[in-house]
Amino acid sequence: MAVAATVATIGEYVGQEVTLKGWIHTKREKGKIAFIVLRDGTGFIQVVLEQDRISPNEWEELREASLESSVIVRGLVKAEPRAPGGYEIQGLFFKAFHVTKDWPLGRKDHGVDFLMDNRHLWIRSRRQSAILRIRHTIETAMIEFLNKNGFYRFDAPIITAAACEGTTTLFEVDYHGDKAYLSQSGQLYAEAGALALGKVYTFGPAFRAEKSKTRRHLLEFWMIEPEAAWFEYEDNIQFQEQFVSYIVNAVLERNADDLKILDRPLEPLMRVKPPFPRITYTEAVELLGKNGFNVHWGDDLGAPEETFLSNYFDKPVFLTHFPAKIKAFYMQPDPENPEVVLAADLLAPEGYGEIIGGSQRIHDYELLRQKIREFGLKEEDYQWYLDLRRYGSVPHSGFGIGLERTVAWICKLEHIREAVPFPRMLHKLTP
Ligand code: ATP
Repeated sequence: MAVAATVATIGEYVGQEVTLKGWIHTKREKGKIAFIVLRDGTGFIQVVLEQDRISPNEWEELREASLESSVIVRGLVKAEPRAPGGYEIQGLFFKAFHVTKDWPLGRKDHGVDFLMDNRHLWIRSRRQSAILRIRHTIETAMIEFLNKNGFYRFDAPIITAAACEGTTTLFEVDYHGDKAYLSQSGQLYAEAGALALGKVYTFGPAFRAEKSKTRRHLLEFWMIEPEAAWFEYEDNIQFQEQFVSYIVNAVLERNADDLKILDRPLEPLMRVKPPFPRITYTEAVELLGKNGFNVHWGDDLGAPEETFLSNYFDKPVFLTHFPAKIKAFYMQPDPENPEVVLAADLLAPEGYGEIIGGSQRIHDYELLRQKIREFGLKEEDYQWYLDLRRYGSVPHSGFGIGLERTVAWICKLEHIREAVPFPRMLHKLTP
C-alpha cells in the first residue's frame, strides 16, 4: 500500500511507495520518458514517468495533461542529490483528475498588471507560493511568541465609531443610518484589554483609505498589536527586539527552501539579534541634513528619509522620541522634554522602512483630556477610553506591527502587493 505523502514530508519515505496529489507545474517529454514537476502546495518535486512502467491509458492521459492539470501519482521515493529538494519520484501510476487547457500564465514574461488581474492563479507560482508559506510562518511565529510570553489574544471590533490614527484615511460605512468606520487599528480596545487581562494582543485586518500609491501601503492590511499594563517605554522596546528576532529566526529555521526560491540573501536576516541600534528623531534629522535631505525639526519623515535611515544601519533600527505634534494624541510625553513623546518606530533594514509603530500611552486622565482637545478631537467620542484613566489607571505601552510590511522585508520583495494573497490597493479591488 502506498502512503499518502506530501512534498514537504517526502524525505521520510525514501525507498517506499507514496501517493501524491497535486498539479503539474512543468512537463517535459523525451521519447518514452516524461518528467513532470509536481506541486502540491507544500513544495515542488520531480516525477519521472516511463512509458514501459505505466499502462497505455495512463501514458495517454499523461501526454494530454498540460500545465496546471490536477493529477494523482504513485511512485517510489528516491534520494536524488541533484534534484532541487534532494528527492525524486519514480512514477508507477498516473491519473489526471482534471486536464487544464490553455493555462493563461504559461508564458514567462507577463506584465505585472496581467499578473495582478490573475492573482487567483498567480498565487500558484513557485515564487508566490513560497512568499505565502513564509507569511504563514510569520503569522504563526508572532502568535506563538506572544502566547509563550503570557499575552492573551483579544480581538477588537472591526466596525468602530471613532478614528484611532487620524481622520484622513477613514473608510466610512453606513451603520443603519449612523456613520461608522472600518477599524484603522485595534489599539484603543487593546488598552482596555490590557487593564482587564494584563497583557493582550489584537490580530486583525486594519483599513486605511490611503490616497497615494506607494510600494509600502495597502488599503487593507493585517496587524498584530500587543499591549501590556505596567510596561513602560524601555520594556516595550526590549520586548520588540525579542519578538522580531524570534520571527526572523522562525523563518530561517522553517522556510529554508522557500527563501532559496526567492533568492533571498540570508546574511542580513542572520544579523537580526538584539540589541537593535536606536536613533532619536532629533539625531535623525541632523543625520539626514548632513546627507542632503531638506528636513526640519517637526517635519514628518517620509518614505525617502525612512529608506535612507534603514539603509544606514545593518540591523533593524528604532527611531525614537518624535515631536509630539506629528504623532498620535495618546502618546506619553517624555518627562525630560515634553515636546517629544516616548514613542519608537522600528525601521527594517535594507531600505524597507517602518514595520512597527509603538509608544508608551498617556495614563493620566487630565493630560489625556488636554491632548484630545489639542488634537481637535471630540471628548465625547472618547468617554470609554478616558474611563481607562478614571478607574485603576497604570502606565502601559504597546505597538503595532504590520504583517505585510514584515513579509515584504523578510522575503525582500520589491512591492507589498506580493505579501498578501489578495491585495487591496488604490483602484484595485479584484480579484
Ligand atoms: P506610515 O507612516 O508608513 O504610513 P503609520 O505611521 O501610519 O505608517 P502606524 O499607524 O504606526 O503606521 O501602524 C503600525 C504599522 O502598521 C506600521 O508600522 C506598518 O507596519 C503597518 N501599516 C500602517 N499603514 C499601512 C498600510 N497602509 N499598508 C500596510 N501596512 C501598514
